[in-house]
Amino acid sequence: MRAADVAVVGDGIAGLTCALACARRGLDVVVVGARSIAAASRASAGVLAPSLAARPADDPAQRFLVAARDAWPAWLEALEEETGVRVPLRFGVLELDPPRGEGSAALPQHSRRLDARELAELEPALLPGDRPSALLHERDGADELEPLLAALDVALARRKVHRLAAGARAVEGGREGLVVDTPAERIVARHLVLAGGAWSGAMSGVSLPPAVRPVAGVTARIRGAPRLRYVVFGAGGYLVPLSDALLVGATSRDVGFDARIIAEDRGELAAVADALLGSDPSRLGDHRLGFRPMTSDGLPIIDRDPADERIVHATGYSRNGVLVAPLAASCVAALVAGERPPASLAPFGVARFGPPRASR
Ligand SMILES: Cc1cc2nc3c(=O)[nH]c(=O)nc-3n(C[C@H](O)[C@H](O)[C@H](O)COP(=O)(O)OP(=O)(O)OC[C@H]3O[C@@H](n4cnc5c(N)ncnc54)[C@H](O)[C@@H]3O)c2cc1C
Repeated sequence: MRAADVAVVGDGIAGLTCALACARRGLDVVVVGARSIAAASRASAGVLAPSLAARPADDPAQRFLVAARDAWPAWLEALEEETGVRVPLRFGVLELDPPRGEGSAALPQHSRRLDARELAELEPALLPGDRPSALLHERDGADELEPLLAALDVALARRKVHRLAAGARAVEGGREGLVVDTPAERIVARHLVLAGGAWSGAMSGVSLPPAVRPVAGVTARIRGAPRLRYVVFGAGGYLVPLSDALLVGATSRDVGFDARIIAEDRGELAAVADALLGSDPSRLGDHRLGFRPMTSDGLPIIDRDPADERIVHATGYSRNGVLVAPLAASCVAALVAGERPPASLAPFGVARFGPPRASR
């Protein structure tokens, strides 16, 4: 039996950022992770774009998304100082054919309208298309998942966070602590962070929040693509410039845990690349599928378990899981430490889905 202050179940971006935030507070942390090849974080595009959320600026969830975006530069700087790994962060998201009315009143802060000429000057590689205007969201952007996950691995190793590559089957509550049962080892911890992504419903022994379901998504890389300056949303998808490639995304299939990449996924991504760049379908490769942990309202669950205060849920990150991860992790670490979180978690409570399901 291994003892820890905090056991984190889940090794995607949610679990790893929560583990790091707890370890930075001097807590002894163990991460239990099954390393699924269909983890959302492996397929993700890394776009940080709260301006694309169709929520009013004073909506509490929107405020959290914007604060989460604005936390990224300092958070990445601290990560680089700690690890020596630089994670590229790119600013500027172009929204083509924006579904917003004319006039600037409805625009998010730090967003501006571009006419066709300005758009062509800023991003000459884009096909002109039939678009009279576009929006540029200057503070939105994207980071890169591969270096980010690698930097998190280094940071956790430096802080002596133990990583257990196994699936947690069950949790048992006891007076000595919470016991996490895995085929490899049993862990007893004072606190438990549940960050299992789309698999959050698969563990017995906790009154799980319902409503986290897998929504499969596929991204791909375009070989030999022109270099873009901005992330581009249009033609029903998006393009994200990475250091060494151009990523195209993303499909969305709500059919459970079916991890096959099908012809329809390839066709959809090829159509986006063709519409925006005139790119040949044979140039697409490195397709990756991940299961987004979706909630019914598309918002994360970041809350203490109603039945056991020692358990904190950090799941259901849905379509904005990368965006919210660092701020959500600071909030989770504060909840673990019994402190007030640095941002309001009011929209993200477990109770919004009704009474918790009984443990299985
Ligand atoms: C195609 C695609 C594109 C996306 N693009 C963006 C984007 O541009 N911007 C953005 O912000 N978000 C994006 N998202 C969403 C974002 O990627 C997810 O919200 C986020 O990665 C979820 O992270 P997670 O750690 O909760 O889950 P995951 O990354 O799925 O990780 C969960 C991990 O926990 C493990 N696990 C689960 N249960 C257990 C258990 N009982 N025991 C041990 N291990 C367990 C799993 O094996 C898995 O490895 C995208 C998602 C997809 C699929």
